[in-house]
Amino acid sequence: MQQLMWFRSDLRTQDNTALSQAMRSGSTIALYLVTPGQWQRHDDAPCKVDFWLRNLAELSQALAALNVPLLVRQCHDWNDAPLQIADVCREHTISAVHVNEEYGINESLRDRQVAAYLSQQAIAWHSHLDQILFKPGSVLTRSGGYFQVYSQFRKVCYERLHSALPGPVTLPRAQTPLAVKRDAIPTAVTGFAPPSESLRQLWPAGEQAALQRLERFAEEQVAFYKDERDFPAKPGTSQLSAYLAAGVLSPRQCLHAALAANQGEFDSGNAGVVTWVNELLWREFYKHILVGYPRVSRHRAFRPETEAVPWRDAPQELAAWQEGRTGLPIVDAAMRQLLATGWMHNRLRMIVAMFLTKNLLIDWREGERFFMRHLIDGDLAANNGGWQWSASTGTDAAPYFRIFNPISQSQKFDPDGQFIRQWMPELATVNKRDIHDPSALGGLFAPSGYPRPIVDLSRSRERALAAFKNLSPEA
Ligand code: FAD
Repeated sequence: MQQLMWFRSDLRTQDNTALSQAMRSGSTIALYLVTPGQWQRHDDAPCKVDFWLRNLAELSQALAALNVPLLVRQCHDWNDAPLQIADVCREHTISAVHVNEEYGINESLRDRQVAAYLSQQAIAWHSHLDQILFKPGSVLTRSGGYFQVYSQFRKVCYERLHSALPGPVTLPRAQTPLAVKRDAIPTAVTGFAPPSESLRQLWPAGEQAALQRLERFAEEQVAFYKDERDFPAKPGTSQLSAYLAAGVLSPRQCLHAALAANQGEFDSGNAGVVTWVNELLWREFYKHILVGYPRVSRHRAFRPETEAVPWRDAPQELAAWQEGRTGLPIVDAAMRQLLATGWMHNRLRMIVAMFLTKNLLIDWREGERFFMRHLIDGDLAANNGGWQWSASTGTDAAPYFRIFNPISQSQKFDPDGQFIRQWMPELATVNKRDIHDPSALGGLFAPSGYPRPIVDLSRSRERALAAFKNLSPEA
């Protein structure tokens, strides 16, 4: 019986549930759909699309070693998916299609439509849990609802991990070669300008590159993660998010690498490992939120009362934030890191998101969209979760009155100004005391060519407090 493995955000051969199931069920052909219209609608960043294509080329090679040919079909968007997939099934007399589940609203609708269309032609549809550790709907409160508080969600996850650790899936042996040629992988897609070579080099493609990065992190860095993860000048975090988002790496591989670095323990022993596993569970939490509260997929605030925040329409301030010229060095350096590398350190994501939504009082959806358009790891669940956390509109979000001060954050987490200097050559000669707020130098001493802050931090803080206070349910 001929099987079809439809790859989406699971671009790897190892520990891939759907691929293993397909190959166990019969001889397998693989498929990937290039859907530029859909990607544009989802604000997928050009550097992310380029990362997908580069990984696809590596995946095609890895599949060829298993004698699984990878076909590539172009269609505008997912509305065309049922017909395209049915065509491939007809051409290759496919009897079953295998996929790994995806959780956005559009992704779920697409899968329901494809499955329904295929069932009319008596083709089976097998959807597998793979992208996360626990199936959404399987980690619930006592009253049967989705958790809204991360610490409670995490507690249940740990109980489950203690009783049954999800093991990696074994890769079947190479199958007998088929008389089907694999397709060439496009190197670019219209509408998505290729990124710079220097950006590409930061994110080498392929599961071997991803596994090496994971191994190096587990061997050399995870032990220091708890102490170093908040300092953007240090290589304190794994930088695996792009690989996890594209499925070049699985959360099970990450979990097992972390456990191996901690004598098999995940909630005691090395505090760095425990803290890192908690981050993997944040990823898990936001995916569950996406399914449990689908309104967050529709650009709606998780807390309905915050829909009434009087967000400001301030296009010039928004542009200054986007282009890294707010006059607040830590914010500007972070935005330049994003534009140059497609990635931003987590502490900085929180700082720039709070600055946009609180000090500038600009709608979190503007920031969410801009991030999505530039992040190589852009992921609806994590990005929406991070933005709604920072804007105090989300589940388990930062309380609205806890507003980060970007200058004190900068002093605390980039004490020598090393990160700022890396991205802001115009501030290279400013000493480590003044670099966090060069405007305080005033007049002749202020660095030339660097703007004054576009907003007064304490007045804008008061403005944000007033905007939120008036609408909080308990006010
Ligand atoms: P590590 O610290 O090494 O963490 C390991 C992995 O855990 C990450 O690769 C990621 O998959 C996951 N993870 C870590 N922190 C979080 C978190 N807070 N929420 C969900 N998953 C997490 N992460 C994305 O993957 N895609 C996004 O689009 C995204 N947008 C964000 C937007 C904002 C405003 C904020 C505050 C956070 C966002 N995050 C996003 C979460 C986090 O910033 C990144 O996952 C992290 O910086 C990636 O770096 P790393 O791989 O070195 O992480």
